[in-house]
Amino acid sequence: MPGNSRLNVVNPATEEHIEEIPCTTEAEMDVVTERSQKGFEEWRDYAGLDRAGIFHDISRRLMDHQQELAETMTLEGGKPYIENSDEVEWSAACFDYYGEIARDSVGYLPAPIEPHQLAMVVKEPIGTVACIVPWNYPLLLAVWKVAPALAAGNAVILKPSEETPLATRRMAELMEGLPEGLLQIVYGAGDVGEALVRHPGVDMVAFTGSQETGRKVGVTAAERLIRANLELGGKDPFIICDDVDVEVAAQGAVWSACLNAGQVCTSPERFYVEKRVAKDFIEASREFVDSLNIGDPMKTATDIGPMINAKGREKVEAHISHALDNGAKLVTGGERHGERGFFYKPTVLTGVTPSMTVMQDETFGPVLPIVEVDSLEEAIKQANAVPYGLGANVYTRDFEKMLKCMRELRAGTVWINDPLTDNDAAPFGGQKGSGIGRELGREGLEAFQESKHVHIDPRVEKKDWWYPYGDDAGEVM
Ligand code: NAD
Repeated sequence: MPGNSRLNVVNPATEEHIEEIPCTTEAEMDVVTERSQKGFEEWRDYAGLDRAGIFHDISRRLMDHQQELAETMTLEGGKPYIENSDEVEWSAACFDYYGEIARDSVGYLPAPIEPHQLAMVVKEPIGTVACIVPWNYPLLLAVWKVAPALAAGNAVILKPSEETPLATRRMAELMEGLPEGLLQIVYGAGDVGEALVRHPGVDMVAFTGSQETGRKVGVTAAERLIRANLELGGKDPFIICDDVDVEVAAQGAVWSACLNAGQVCTSPERFYVEKRVAKDFIEASREFVDSLNIGDPMKTATDIGPMINAKGREKVEAHISHALDNGAKLVTGGERHGERGFFYKPTVLTGVTPSMTVMQDETFGPVLPIVEVDSLEEAIKQANAVPYGLGANVYTRDFEKMLKCMRELRAGTVWINDPLTDNDAAPFGGQKGSGIGRELGREGLEAFQESKHVHIDPRVEKKDWWYPYGDDAGEVM
């Protein structure tokens, strides 16, 4: 297999080396897929209740190791400890959820053709699922795939990001009770991910990552005619109507844009504020941004940690420079923070125009580009004018405006007055170029199930509509 033979895991807050991990080789990939097949066959014989019991044990074990897992994620990914601690809790809850709903989702009975017959739709597993995830929520995004895929009866081969393999390795160790080979981890960068999707022992791919990589994964899956669930990037809009408490809206805007240093797929990256409250909103945003603590992500008082790596920070800098070179105004931020680590100050921009890269491409950093609009109609029109459609946020007290936004915004999730709140029981995913398929909820389980129609006629009898079509005299009956 091409590429590096080892992963060098680095602490983004200090730029110090943490650990080297050997990448999975081509020969190992054959062994992994064979083991996966064996684990799949064994798992088939587990009753739903037994699977649920194992899932609840896993959930409990994750919570027993919450601090350790959160610290590991903070070391390797730079997300503040407090956010990583939440991530462990959400991952545990996701196992509990899928342990139960899978017991309730094994198929259904459609009306048969004749009353004496039985028609069944049986939900079956697909086989071995490759789960490929990014670095920004290493455990949660893995669990959103691993839990429903296993609950549906599949085997899983999980590839964490090359940036954040350590917490995933630990989580897999904590997932005791599963048959051998049912859940395995492979390590490496894009070349290992690609080899996994190409491997004949893999029957489906569930991918979260950038639009660019997602397109490649989709093409490879299409060539092999295997199913691909794609959760891709976003450029989420955030609309502030003029009937709201501007302080609250500004704090919600800054929190959601700067969470994990703006490296959330559903980070709002374009802000449309009605003219009457624009000045106050910009000032309240500036004040709140300037009050935030940037620094060591291990400290619980830290609001904003580093970005993941130098490349991520350079992309943010390029978007901001392009905007400033083309007439945007810097309200606050716009520079690096500290001597070491990939820190970047949260940044507020005004005077941005739709053609700027900061308004078109995913920035994936702590940046709030703010646009003043004359009306909600104009805000919605601009919000929909990009090829992404992951999430959208709105602040308003007016129920009619809420309904209008709900109907007209083209996004997989619309959050009204409560940015970025996910729900295990509701589907998550993107419209337009932000993805194909959904995670979470029942749809997130069905993504990993095949449907088999079984038609049973207990009467063994010749049917009227078989040959011969004519009678003895040659007349058509
Ligand atoms: P990325 O696309 O660079 O990498 C994602 C994963 O794909 C990594 O594990 C990587 O090693 C692997 N990969 C790279 N090339 C591959 C290939 N050719 N074949 C198979 N696998 C390959 O993304 P990233 O930088 O790790 O993460 C950031 C991106 O993820 C952002 O665009 C963000 O919006 C997106 N994201 C989306 C969601 C969502 O649910 N929609 C959630 C989180 C992050």
